[in-house]
Amino acid sequence: PADIGLLPESLRTEYEKLVEDVRRYRFAYYNEDNPLVSDAEFDVLYSRLEEIEALHPGIVSHDSPTQEVGGEVSAAFSPVTHLSRMYSLEDVFSLEEVTAWADKAAANAAIQAPGERLRWLCEVKIDGLAINLLYRNGKLVRAATRGDGTTGEDVTHNVLTIKDIPVQLSGSGWPAEVEIRGEIFIPSQAFAEFNAALLEAGKAQLANPRNAAAGSLRQKDPAETAKRPLRMFVHGIGAREGLASTTQSETYELLRSWGLPVSPYSRVVDSIEQVLAYIEENGAHRHDLLHEIDGIVVKTDSFEIQRALGFTSRVPRWSVAYKYPPEEVHTELLDIQVQV
Ligand code: NAD
Repeated sequence: PADIGLLPESLRTEYEKLVEDVRRYRFAYYNEDNPLVSDAEFDVLYSRLEEIEALHPGIVSHDSPTQEVGGEVSAAFSPVTHLSRMYSLEDVFSLEEVTAWADKAAANAAIQAPGERLRWLCEVKIDGLAINLLYRNGKLVRAATRGDGTTGEDVTHNVLTIKDIPVQLSGSGWPAEVEIRGEIFIPSQAFAEFNAALLEAGKAQLANPRNAAAGSLRQKDPAETAKRPLRMFVHGIGAREGLASTTQSETYELLRSWGLPVSPYSRVVDSIEQVLAYIEENGAHRHDLLHEIDGIVVKTDSFEIQRALGFTSRVPRWSVAYKYPPEEVHTELLDIQVQV
């Protein structure tokens, strides 16, 4: 069992404070859609927590923030158990770490899925919030937030107001039950316009597109959600029994044919050099995209390799998120009145 007493006295107070702060900041971010610190500040605390735990593995309890997918289920919504679990992503902050991750994934894939073609699916990391759409016989029957990864919040009525999301899939070949995962976001331009209108009306502006999207989706009144310029791009698939595709990129093409909104920015490449080039290109143009991004997500494209590499309690081993360095640190967020 985890024992914090294993920590040297000098670290114990720091560790306990980190756990408490990370929990508090996560609650404000996920449950109240109202961050108390910037993402960059949060990431520093979280990385320090991981660092201390890596040095002293005996202290890691199952409810440490590093073992959990952040976010609880608010009592304002009905709980929904996802058919298949939703995960977070492992963050890295340097190109060297991306390369190290890819080398390790490649080595493990060669052992655990020998002969399977290794390719990298590069995607932009959309700064919004995750959604899980359950389609039964092609019909949207439920939409839920990620929550703690096992149980999310039922936001079906709100999701039905988002025009990007089809209520009925088109085409054919959908499994009897399929979970489509993606990111709900507010496009940068729509966000600027929405804020300008708030300013004109003498109302408090929204702090950033991510929290605005989360706050807009998690409204109690769907009519309120309908007024917000929400969009969605698919970036994954959960339960999918009977689906014939063998790679994630091929699956995106299938989903596109069913009328689902798939990101136009993804690219499949063969080498790490090409992955790094993708990171650099998008870093240089990050503000020219339709939406805000906070990094790049790299995935192994083959489902066989994904299955072989598997998951930790919190993240897939077949994917990594590279975070761009912060452009500015908004400590003043504390002073902004966030209205969602
Ligand atoms: P994450 O946001 O780093 O990564 C996981 C999520 O990325 C997925 O759930 C998915 O919704 C999303 N995503 C976007 N594009 C994707 C793509 N192409 N493929 C797959 N997934 C994609 O992890 P997290 O656990 O949700 O949260 C950590 C993030 O939240 C960090 O960036 C952290 O800074 C921020 N955060 C900030 C505060 C704060 O107080 N400011 C508090 C908690 C968390």
